[in-house]
Amino acid sequence: MRDSPNEFDVIVLGAGVIGVNAAYWNLRHGKSVCVIDRQPASGLETSFANGGQVSVSHAEPWANPAAPLKVLKWLFRSDAPLLFRPRLDVRQWLWLARFLVDCLPRRADRHTAEIVKLATQSRDLIRTVRAEEGFHYDERSKGILHFYRDRRDFESAIRVAALMRKYGCNRTVIDADQVVEIEPAFNDMRGEIAGATYTPEDESGDAFKFTQALAQICERKGGIFLYNHQVTALEADRACRQVRSVEICGPDGYRTLRARDVVVSMGSWSAPFLRRYGVKLAIYPAKGYSVTIPTGGSNGAPVVSLTDDEHKLVYSNLGDRLRVAGTAELSGYSRDLNYGRCQAILRNVKALFPRAGNFEHASFWSGLRPATPSNVPYVGRTRYRNLWLNTGHGTLGWTLGAGSGFRIADMIAANEGPLAA
Ligand SMILES: Cc1cc2nc3c(=O)[nH]c(=O)nc-3n(C[C@H](O)[C@H](O)[C@H](O)COP(=O)(O)OP(=O)(O)OC[C@H]3O[C@@H](n4cnc5c(N)ncnc54)[C@H](O)[C@@H]3O)c2cc1C
Repeated sequence: MRDSPNEFDVIVLGAGVIGVNAAYWNLRHGKSVCVIDRQPASGLETSFANGGQVSVSHAEPWANPAAPLKVLKWLFRSDAPLLFRPRLDVRQWLWLARFLVDCLPRRADRHTAEIVKLATQSRDLIRTVRAEEGFHYDERSKGILHFYRDRRDFESAIRVAALMRKYGCNRTVIDADQVVEIEPAFNDMRGEIAGATYTPEDESGDAFKFTQALAQICERKGGIFLYNHQVTALEADRACRQVRSVEICGPDGYRTLRARDVVVSMGSWSAPFLRRYGVKLAIYPAKGYSVTIPTGGSNGAPVVSLTDDEHKLVYSNLGDRLRVAGTAELSGYSRDLNYGRCQAILRNVKALFPRAGNFEHASFWSGLRPATPSNVPYVGRTRYRNLWLNTGHGTLGWTLGAGSGFRIADMIAANEGPLAA
């Protein structure tokens, strides 16, 4: 369908890593696709400077049986890995209540299984697309190593690793000597490591470069990207359960676009945007930070992608930069940088890898993870027959993006899919 410049088969709202993946897979189904974003280019919001891990091994959601006690312990520490700042916002409290329910062992196991399945499919698709389209994004296929200094944390990781292996993720348990063998940068702290797990098939790279490269490939396949355009409204017919058009506002004013199908991939803004159409999503922004350290000339930076369980930080070597990201703050939609939290990350990196790079020239960033209580994203239809959800990927948007883009494109092509909200 492309009878007029304002008509498409599929309109994707949002050009983050999730929206761009959705566009790509719909284009592969032969659809005409238009992507709308308020930013001047793709990947400039939460997909910009994330931790860089494609990590099936990270599938255990934050909402797990150990979480409530840890969160209580961290409640009053401003540098806590997971920080809750209570607000007069009923949605924040409702989200937290659902998070606590999702910590129940059976629910946490079920969500882990769902995420492992989607993440594994997604990681395979990322490799396929990279090979078929021939593009690069500082990717490394050296696996992901989760290391533990606390023996009790390591022992509970052994249980989680076994659960993941049951669902098909090859997360193996290793000792400190094997850690140093895999990542020699750990040599000086061998004695501090209680143990680790290693997932050789996991990968890392620059999610922003990936998103931009995939957006360019989409354009070459005929996809239209309208940047600097705010999505302002949907013309939603509740009686006919159909979205008739999308209203956008750009440099030339308001414009109306029509499409057979509309996919919502607006990250943390999906929930407030859809509320007025009666589609209620349990997505709350979980602010995270990243620090990027130039590594030129130094040889002490880890090469393998790492997860420091104690501080909830991930490390990815992006060629001439070391990206370290993590922590979560449930404090609303502000992206303000908290200097104390940025410095806390930097201190951790310096303590662990003092020769990693030029710490004086580190840059800081924050992003809002579109977090669902279970960390399982919404991928499916809404009460409107042609309005689809591909959003709420929380801590794992890059990892899950190809898989969920593939699935939503399949559902649209078949014109059927599960009711997601
Ligand atoms: C610190 C940190 C570390 C992370 N580390 C990892 C990691 O190592 N591995 C991993 O897999 N994931 C990681 N993540 C999670 C991952 O980055 C996110 O899940 C992912 O970026 C979400 O992508 P998205 O496309 O849904 O959202 P976004 O990238 O935010 O994209 C949404 C887009 O919608 C647009 N938009 C919103 N509202 C409107 C509107 N009204 N009109 C027009 N446009 C609109 C925005 O401009 C934006 O471009 C991390 C996140 C953070 C914060």
